[in-house]
Amino acid sequence: MEIRVAKWAGFCFGVKRAIEIAQETIKKRAGPVYSLGPLIHNDQVVEKLTQLGIKKIDFLEQVEDNGTLIIRSHGVGPEILNKAEKYRLKVVDATCPYVRKTQQLASDYALKGVQVLIVGSREHPEVKGLVGWTNGQALVVERPEEVENLPELTKIAVLAQTTQSLANFQAVVNLLKQKAGTQPEINNTICNATRLRQQTASELAREVGIMIVVGGKNSANTKELFYLCQSTGTPTYQVETAQELKKLWFKNINTAGLTAGASTPHWILEEVKNKMKELAEINEGNLNENLGENENLGENEVLGENEVLVENQTIFETADKNGELAENESGFKMGLNENAAVKPLIQGEIVSGTIVQVGTNEVMVDIGAKSEGIIPLRELSSFPNAISPCEVVQAGDKIDVMIIKAEDNEGKLILSKEKADTEKAWATLEELYHNGECVEGVVREVVKGGLLVDVGIRGFLPASLVEQGYTEDLNKYLETTIKAKIVELNRNHRKVILSRKSFLEEEMAVKRQELFANLEEGQRVKGIVRRLTNFGAFIDLGGVDGLLHISELAWYRVNHPSELLNTDEEIEVVILRVDKENGKISLSLKQLMPNPWDNITEKYPVDGIVKAKVTRLAPFGAFVQLEPGVEGLVHISHLANYHIASPDEVVQNGDEIDVKVLSVNPAEKRMRLSLREANQETKNRGRQKYSEPQFTSQNTENNHKVTIGDMVGDMFEENEEQYK
Ligand code: SF4
Repeated sequence: MEIRVAKWAGFCFGVKRAIEIAQETIKKRAGPVYSLGPLIHNDQVVEKLTQLGIKKIDFLEQVEDNGTLIIRSHGVGPEILNKAEKYRLKVVDATCPYVRKTQQLASDYALKGVQVLIVGSREHPEVKGLVGWTNGQALVVERPEEVENLPELTKIAVLAQTTQSLANFQAVVNLLKQKAGTQPEINNTICNATRLRQQTASELAREVGIMIVVGGKNSANTKELFYLCQSTGTPTYQVETAQELKKLWFKNINTAGLTAGASTPHWILEEVKNKMKELAEINEGNLNENLGENENLGENEVLGENEVLVENQTIFETADKNGELAENESGFKMGLNENAAVKPLIQGEIVSGTIVQVGTNEVMVDIGAKSEGIIPLRELSSFPNAISPCEVVQAGDKIDVMIIKAEDNEGKLILSKEKADTEKAWATLEELYHNGECVEGVVREVVKGGLLVDVGIRGFLPASLVEQGYTEDLNKYLETTIKAKIVELNRNHRKVILSRKSFLEEEMAVKRQELFANLEEGQRVKGIVRRLTNFGAFIDLGGVDGLLHISELAWYRVNHPSELLNTDEEIEVVILRVDKENGKISLSLKQLMPNPWDNITEKYPVDGIVKAKVTRLAPFGAFVQLEPGVEGLVHISHLANYHIASPDEVVQNGDEIDVKVLSVNPAEKRMRLSLREANQETKNRGRQKYSEPQFTSQNTENNHKVTIGDMVGDMFEENEEQYK
């Protein structure tokens, strides 16, 4: 017996996604993880998920504190979300994006005051959720015959349960259109995965002698598949597992068809297929019969529960006879739309589209095709781990995408923004590279040896090329925008090597040129003290360093620049020289201060007596400072009025003394000073000032009047005697 499997069968995108989210949640969460109702309509898979730790609950009241609630692919109404918040549950939303989109439509219509009518099963969780999004106002119609009992409605918006049979939906819509006074706005929200499963199952059923539909007994989409296959007139059976297959079904069958609902995993489908083969071989006598419980039945076996159910089901029209239903009057793209003019999809083509919905793991885009396309997270940007979808795009954005698969094995249109961006980025990068221009990008990751930069694609910036010097902390660049030169570009190897150092060097060179062009001698400029050395300080004038020599710091002697300057402080300097050829700039700070020698003869007239401080002793005399920047020499012969061999016999470093100005030479900045004459002058003045007798000395016999001048003069003479 030949077994043919429908091209579209088993797990759909939404179910697979929900299971992946559930597995991820279990890995990450510390507390209990719940699903309200079975996560998917397949007992075998639910059993496995239970073993992993996902607890199925029927009411939110059953939860414990700190729990996590996974919203299954069917979605829920807002009342459940509110309740979850009340019970302080962390919600992980695994609602299928197609269901979410339908919820959004229902909510929008309800907010606009339009009556919503849902074609679907009243008891199905998806439909209950949709009703919730209309604040409980939506009407639900399960069968066409219910249309005549509907109240009189003028304007209604019709939506479909995503797993509805197209035939049933169309039958309801046709009757609504005929209903007097009713203006239905049709939204065919049957999802593409459902459409393809129904379409290919129906086609296959016409070609085979028997049709097996695998799926959970409570799975709506599996039931729809079953009805469709059965409606072709081919004997059709629905099973959940391989054990339910019966040998009798395959007697004298040459070709058997196999399909599965959207909640059926691949491994169950495989098990059923293998069992079908085995039973066919037993029938053909090629294999010894090893009768199991079910196989013990003979030709006249009593039909099982499932089979009785099959016999009694209502048979609907097949979908392929009713293509005109998909007129999609509201422009909603989800679902079958056979007659609408749609763009042909070419793999690898870059097309424009509009973001319809942004989810956590994928983004839906309308590119004008029969159904909306999906951009999986990994296809959204070059850095899927570093950024969330909503950081990249927003609903309503117009973007370019590349068509990766017109229809993948789940019937989805798969798109890539990353690949479209990459194509554009390569073109831009090649142009920049050949023109020697810089590229701008955001640092997304710190990796071993450097940084990964988003320049439309991933660019690598080696650590040694991040700065002009060594950089210890690369993390400070994370999420910052940088400019860099492209130093290597290889499209075949997808290699982009960047150098920020080269960019900085170029930037510096440009700044230098600009600065040199604008700097003039004598100009006052501001700069930052960058480095202090023994011979001066380097001042950053905005990209170029100038040298402030130690001799240009002040008018007086400075031993080290740190006496006056601190690194990183801003100072004002004057430009002494600009050597454009050698790129050198000499600066002065002291030129901005008054020169103490400017009016020196007025400040220190010849013969004047002034205070001074001994700063240095030499064999030929003592250097004294009159004020910062003004020093003079007291020659050894002018230190005392008697002979001395060395200046330290009279003065020491740091002594404060009175000196007489003998001569001033402003041109050579020289002053000759005399301590000896200052002393003599002081003595003379003392004598003069106090020349009148003040009192009679008690020691004088002849009542000789003694003056203070005499006493001061005597005092000097006594001192002089001591030094002789
Ligand atoms: S059947 Fe369609 S709507 Fe439902 S989960 Fe699968 S992909 Fe989503």
